[in-house]
Amino acid sequence: MSYQAVNPFNETLINEFSNASTTDIENALTNGHEFYLASKSQTPNQREQLLTQLADEFENNSEHYAKLLSTNMGKLIGQARTEVKNNVAIARYYAKHGAEFIKPKTFPSVDKSNAYVLYQATGIVLAVEPWNFPYTQVMRVVAPNFILGNAVILKHAGIVPECAQAFEEACHNAGWPVGAFKNLFLDYDQVDAVIADPRVQGVALTGSDGAGRTVAASAGKYLKQSSMELGGTDVFVVLADADIPRAVKEAAQARLTNAGQVCTAGKRYLVAADIYDEFLAQLKVEFATYKLGDPLDEATTLAPLSSKAAQKKLREQTEQVIAGGAQVLYGELTDTNQPGAGFTPMILTGMTPDNPMYDTELFGPVAQIYKVADDDEIVALANNSEHGLGGAIYATDIAHARRLASRIETGQISINRRMASHSEVPFGGIKDSGYGRELSHYGIEVFANVKAITYND
Ligand code: NAP
Repeated sequence: MSYQAVNPFNETLINEFSNASTTDIENALTNGHEFYLASKSQTPNQREQLLTQLADEFENNSEHYAKLLSTNMGKLIGQARTEVKNNVAIARYYAKHGAEFIKPKTFPSVDKSNAYVLYQATGIVLAVEPWNFPYTQVMRVVAPNFILGNAVILKHAGIVPECAQAFEEACHNAGWPVGAFKNLFLDYDQVDAVIADPRVQGVALTGSDGAGRTVAASAGKYLKQSSMELGGTDVFVVLADADIPRAVKEAAQARLTNAGQVCTAGKRYLVAADIYDEFLAQLKVEFATYKLGDPLDEATTLAPLSSKAAQKKLREQTEQVIAGGAQVLYGELTDTNQPGAGFTPMILTGMTPDNPMYDTELFGPVAQIYKVADDDEIVALANNSEHGLGGAIYATDIAHARRLASRIETGQISINRRMASHSEVPFGGIKDSGYGRELSHYGIEVFANVKAITYND
């Protein structure tokens, strides 16, 4: 069965679910379409209230929702509570601001006529989502589309089926109308069939670039709007004037939070030559403070990877990186024959463009470190990547850091703070990290019909 909840800490099978039947899919499409048609004659006010009720549901039952994250994909319980909190924040943001983003806009400069645009719903959006943030990735699509009047069908990652079900139950508990949101356990052929259906007008995917290419191709074949939020090989730059203790602490957090399974995690550390030795020595000490354990134990500071398969894949990739010429500065290869999906953090150096693994996203606690001479070398290294998601720069001279940030080819950069997303700020990538933007007003426009109307009095 492809939808199985297995606790990655102890490999216990918790629950399994059958794939959706043809009838399940047809019902979801019929109900979703009815929700869309009904939303045309409503204002967003009632949906704002229902979205607030969804936020309340997650907030009031935070522990229940958080524990499912820990048991399905291994998230530390503290970080799981933070994810539930962030999920609530996204819902509240669109409940408060969504309607104002889709108010008609006028264009007074159009000569001798009046012109305005309406933001209208288009139908059903299919959300194909990853396991690393099982609620917030879904909420980023659901909250704006619900306010707009689009229905959402979710195809979640196979390893977090209980989180997918929990999201649907939360919508039900919040009093949402049937059809507004539906979780379906789809296989890949069923994903293609759902995209092909004329009632579906958009597909949002967050995941690897491989999944992105397949699903975007399907969206292209059926001429459906799409947004792709894909992987990255983000740089974490430490300039010579950086506050080193702060940069060290946040560098470790950037690579080890969520066991390193974050799209915008720091993956390549570019450190100024003057401070390289000092930074590396402190980073090793900081990495050593992280303790692997049961994600439900409050004392654990390093989570296991999301599954045994993820552990085996990362071990193989790391072996290939080393075989390609990289050297291990810290840590050791994890013994995958031991029970559980834990992974020992590593720091590698000597990654060169001729390494066959150069630019491969290592989705786990494996950092690569580079000694860099100046801004030009930083920019050359950072931009020598097919990815273009995020990045971070640590420096005291903010003007310098901002100039450098503008030269790095990614969708977002943070300065003196770890990369994180905020409801108010657009989020997305360029190059192989995908296209489209989530959050902010962009998140509600992506699957809207921006309808222009012009007239003479
Ligand atoms: P994944 O293997 O690509 O899976 C993502 C989703 O796509 C899952 O629901 C998966 O279903 C589905 N999928 C995969 N191949 C498919 C296909 N051929 N047809 C239809 N659906 C398909 O990625 P993941 O391992 O879950 O997540 C990790 C990746 O997501 C990393 O690369 C990470 O950087 C990226 N990510 C990006 C962002 C962002 O905002 N840019 C945010 C979070 C994560 P199954 O589970 O059933 O295979």
